[in-house]
Amino acid sequence: MCIKLNPFTVALNNALTDKGPGQPEIETLLGAKGRQIPQLFAAADRARRRGVGDTVHLRAIIEFSNHCRKNCLYCGLRRDNKTLPRYRLPVEEIMDAAGRAAGLGYRTVVLQSGEDPYFSAADIARLVEQIKARHDLAVTLSLGERRREAYRIWREAGADRYLLKQETSDPALFGYLKPDDSLQERLQCLWWLRELGYQTGSGNMVGLPGQTTATLARDIALMRELDVEMAGIGPFLPHQDTPLRDTAPGKLEATLVTLAVARLCLPRAHLPATTALSTLAPQGHSLALGCGANVIMPNLTPSRVRDKYLIYPQKADIGDDPVQAKKDIEALLAGLARPPATDYGHARKIPSGRN
Ligand code: SAM
Ligand code: SF4
Repeated sequence: MCIKLNPFTVALNNALTDKGPGQPEIETLLGAKGRQIPQLFAAADRARRRGVGDTVHLRAIIEFSNHCRKNCLYCGLRRDNKTLPRYRLPVEEIMDAAGRAAGLGYRTVVLQSGEDPYFSAADIARLVEQIKARHDLAVTLSLGERRREAYRIWREAGADRYLLKQETSDPALFGYLKPDDSLQERLQCLWWLRELGYQTGSGNMVGLPGQTTATLARDIALMRELDVEMAGIGPFLPHQDTPLRDTAPGKLEATLVTLAVARLCLPRAHLPATTALSTLAPQGHSLALGCGANVIMPNLTPSRVRDKYLIYPQKADIGDDPVQAKKDIEALLAGLARPPATDYGHARKIPSGRN
C-alpha cells in the first residue's frame, strides 16, 4: 500500500536531511498553515539546538551616526527625511559605549550607522583598532555599501564581521526600494566581504510591498548560496516620514515562519531575534528564540541620541538603561533555559581562537 504524504510533511522531512530543502520545498514550508506552524517551529528549534547549541549570543549595538546619503524608501534615516534631527557621535563617546559594553560582559560590539561619508575609511579603521587594542571584544561593522578597499582596511584593522542585508532578492523590488543601488552591487559587496575573510551577515525584511512567498523563498535560497554566517530576518515596519508610510507592516506569524525556515536552511548560522520583531510584538524575543534564533542585540547607543536612530517608529529598545536591559535579557533567558554565551560567538565554521 502506498501512503501519500502531504507536500508540507515531505518538505519538512527533506529540510531535516543534510542536503536541506530545495527552493520549491522552501516555498512549501513558508506556506505553513494551522497545525503545520508549531511543527515547523519545533523542527527549527531542534535544528537550532543541533547547529548552534542552546546558548544565546549577546551583541551590543552602537548606532553612532544617523546621517545617510541613501534614500531607501522604507527607512526613517533616508536623506530626504528632513524631520529627523541628525547626530554623529564623537569618537570618545563611541569608545565610552564600547567600554560600557565590555564592562557589562558583552563579547561583541556592532558598530552601525547610515551610509555616512563624514567618517572616512581611515577614521573607521582607527576606531576598530582602538576598540580591539583596549577591549577584549569582537567587532562587527554594519555601515552599508563601501569600496572594496575600505572593507579591506577595516578587516586589516581587526574587524571580525560585517552585516549587509540583501533586504530582498528580487532585483526589481530592490531597485524600487533602494533607488541609489542595485541588487547586483549589493551582492558584489557581500562577495568582497567573504573574500576578505569577514564573517558575513545578510538578511531580509518580511512584508515588503510587492513581496510574495516565492520572493521570500528566493531570499532564503540566496542567503544559503552566499553561505552567510549570520542572517537578520525581521518585519518591515512603516515609518510615517517615508514614502511607504501607508504600507501595512510585516506580520508576526509570517516573520516567525520565515525565521524558522531560514534556520532549517542555515543550521549553523547566527540568527538574531530582531529588535523590529520585538517592536511588532512584546513577546518578539522569546517567540523568535523558540523558532530558530540564537542572538539578541542589546542597544548600547548613548541615551541622549538613541531616539534619533529611528529607522522605524516605536523602536523597542529606546529608553532602556543598559544595566537594566542586561538584567532583563538574563531574566528572559533564564526563563527559557537558554544560557547567555560567554565566548565571542564566532561562526562555528570559522576556526576558533582567531580574535
Ligand atoms: N545603512 C546600513 C545598511 O543599510 O545596510 C546599516 C543601517 S540600516 C538602518 C540597518 C537595517 O535596518 C537595514 O538593513 C534594514 O533591513 C533595516 N531597516 C531599515 N528600515 C526599516 C524598516 N522600516 N523596517 C524594518 N527594518 C528596517
Ligand atoms: Fe541609509 Fe541604511 Fe536606512 Fe538605507 S537602510 S536609508 S542605507 S540607513
